[in-house]
Amino acid sequence: HAKALGGGRFEFFTHDRHGMALGRLHMEIGLRVAMERNELKLVYQPQRHIFSGEMAGVEALVRWHEPRLGMVSPGDFIPLAEESGLIVLIGEWILRQACAQAQQWLAAGFPTRVAVNVSPRQFHDGDLANLVAAVLQECRLPAHLLELELTESILMQNIEQTLAILDRLHAMGVKIAIDDFGTGYSSLSYLKRLPIDVLKIDQSFVRDIADDPDDRAIVSAIIGLAHSLQMDVIAEGVETEAQLAFLRERQCGIMQGYLFSRPVGGDEVLRLLRTQCLAA
Ligand code: C2E
Ligand code: MG
Ligand code: MG
Ligand code: MG
Repeated sequence: HAKALGGGRFEFFTHDRHGMALGRLHMEIGLRVAMERNELKLVYQPQRHIFSGEMAGVEALVRWHEPRLGMVSPGDFIPLAEESGLIVLIGEWILRQACAQAQQWLAAGFPTRVAVNVSPRQFHDGDLANLVAAVLQECRLPAHLLELELTESILMQNIEQTLAILDRLHAMGVKIAIDDFGTGYSSLSYLKRLPIDVLKIDQSFVRDIADDPDDRAIVSAIIGLAHSLQMDVIAEGVETEAQLAFLRERQCGIMQGYLFSRPVGGDEVLRLLRTQCLAA
């Protein structure tokens, strides 16, 4: 049906106050063909151990190069894909792609953990545990090299089912991270009940840690919580040396953000791994 959309697709785009944007329905149609046309790509943002300076892993982030609009932000199309249910299909592609890439880094001599974002419907409507098992096997990727990033809202829905899925993933050896930690409305008791390995501090808390006492307090508390529960902690959106200095002082283990690297292609990650290896 890619053909049916053909050259007329431009008409589907509507304007809004931000300039050009896709209409909801048409963005959904566009997304369906985007996969067939290879318009979706993954980029990988390196994460760094703050103390050793080594790469700790990468986060896979999806990109949509729409031929006429250029880059459409995942912040715009993931929520739509989620609403329409298309996310289950797209999410499967993303998982496969990320694991195949991690297998390539491994084959090149660099075992590198890849974190994949999972959306609510992918978690609750799809058969995530079986999918992950199948993809790991297909890609011959050791489970500990895959991390799944879940939001608090995912964990708070249908807690019994959530626990069952997480227990299966955990038993396989897959790592579980909570993304955007602190921004959801969840109770802390789930941290005790669920097999969580990593807390990712949302970038909204990190942004002003150089000078906002409230943000400093919140970030310190999250780091302390992670340490006490023996979880890893990753600060997101680290852009400045001042932010890094604070995180280092508070013993935050891992950072991710433009200060270390923007999201880059899979080959660029390999280049970084090689450079790091030479420097060591
Ligand atoms: P997220 O998972 O919290 O991803 C972090 C976002 O912060 C990414 O934006 C990343 O590019 C951006 N970022 C990283 N470092 C910095 C920094 O130093 N400063 C600033 N200002 N931003 C930084 P991106 O790639 O646009 O993704 C936005 C959101 O879209 C993600 O938030 C995630 O919720 C969703 N998303 C992205 N890729 C996927 C995917 O493959 N699957 C699913 N389900 N969701 C995805
Ligand atoms: Mg994430
Ligand atoms: Mg995040
Ligand atoms: Mg975020």
